[in-house]
Amino acid sequence: MTKKSAKFREEFLAQLKETNPNQPEFHQAVGEVLCSVTDWYLDQTDMRKNAVLERFTEPDRSIKFRVAWEDDDGQIQVNRGWRVQFNQTIGPYKGGLRFAPSVNESVFKFLGFEQTLKNSLTRLPMGGAKGGADFSPKGKSRREVGRFCQSFMQELYRHIGTDIDIPAGDIGVGAREISILFGHYLKLTNKWTGVLTGKGCDFGGSAGRTEATGYGCIYFLCHMLEEANCEIADKRIAISGAGNVALHAASKAIELDAKVISLSDSSGTLHIKDGLDHEMLDKIEEWKTTKRESLADFKTGKGVKFLSDEKPWSLECDIALPCATQNELEEKDAKKLVEQKVMMVCEGANMPLTADAQQVLRDADIPHAPGKASNAGGVAVSGLEQSQNAQRLRWDADMVDKRLREIMKTIHADCVENSPKRKIIDYRDGANLTGFRRVADAMNAFWHS
Ligand code: NDP
Repeated sequence: MTKKSAKFREEFLAQLKETNPNQPEFHQAVGEVLCSVTDWYLDQTDMRKNAVLERFTEPDRSIKFRVAWEDDDGQIQVNRGWRVQFNQTIGPYKGGLRFAPSVNESVFKFLGFEQTLKNSLTRLPMGGAKGGADFSPKGKSRREVGRFCQSFMQELYRHIGTDIDIPAGDIGVGAREISILFGHYLKLTNKWTGVLTGKGCDFGGSAGRTEATGYGCIYFLCHMLEEANCEIADKRIAISGAGNVALHAASKAIELDAKVISLSDSSGTLHIKDGLDHEMLDKIEEWKTTKRESLADFKTGKGVKFLSDEKPWSLECDIALPCATQNELEEKDAKKLVEQKVMMVCEGANMPLTADAQQVLRDADIPHAPGKASNAGGVAVSGLEQSQNAQRLRWDADMVDKRLREIMKTIHADCVENSPKRKIIDYRDGANLTGFRRVADAMNAFWHS
């Protein structure tokens, strides 16, 4: 980055922080993208006149609402719901719903901003959005989750639609929640449309959507390895998380003969020294997804150790795949990975690396793929689900997987093409520049609307 760009970035961020106080996640996400796009943007006189960057970092709208619901004791509980419709320039808003106690407007703005770039990377006509509620499904009965979802949709339904905004799942919102939300949308509107993605295959969902983010992440990783003249077989992969993304990434990696040496959750890390097999993965999936239990209570066998309250990043590995949540991999963790001579880091989660952790990897010339590129497979298949719904068609799993592979290959190629010429491919800059330029060009063409 030139001196002029660094000064522009600093001043732009200072202004952003002043107008968006107490939103550290949003500041972090914008700050990271500015590192990649400022040199290019400063040369675009027309765009600067049309304030494209200022418009790009301001969501179209942010909707906040009350969600009141009745618990099993008959007590009314009150939560907050949000939908941040970030950018509609290249297609209707698209992005997941997250139910977790830790969410707030800053988290949804960061996620909506990232989603806009990610969706642009897929080359599908999708804008960016994100939403959810500060509700934790953990420890709630099915009936409580059901009542919450219905109340949430009671407000959300007026803001969404196939040509407006198409939400999907995210942390805390899986197949069960999407089904209840979709069922209630039908009751409220009497219209069968593909207004949510991630639906069950029997009612409009796409084959392969559940697996898409994790599988897509491994397809992207394979391209990174190929670029470095390596292959995935026998590589030791440390994965964090034990949710949708982590479990499906693990499954595809095992299928390709890699050695998956860890999974983790908020209680700690499961270390599988000789590598997971499909049988054990199925048991873990049932434990986490069906029974919704903690890994701390998972019955381990020979060669498997549970490391209470620890992350996987001190384990010896060739590849790190953070698939749990934002900022889960900090500077000290990155240093440990560098010490162990990790070959590359490929993000399954959204922004799992802090800015300091990313810098450690850059300084050590370790390739690092940002989630907006490497985890875009989920939203890409959601886009394919929208196409199938609109055509009233259903594609088989092979067809969807083929399209997913093509999309991940194209995203990888675009990142490589737009990476600045450094010793290694700069996936962060390549992804940010590719995603930003597409949306910025369209916003510029729209003048100031
Ligand atoms: P899930 O809710 O299915 O799983 C999340 C997993 O991460 C759980 O195992 C959870 O543990 C663990 N986790 C959460 N917080 C922490 C923490 N602070 N420390 C350690 N582990 C933690 O979510 P997904 O797998 O769907 O999503 C994971 C990430 O991937 C998120 O960043 C999401 O935004 C991103 N993503 C997901 C997509 C999808 O299609 N699902 C698409 C693109 C991105 P526990 O069970 O103990 O809570």
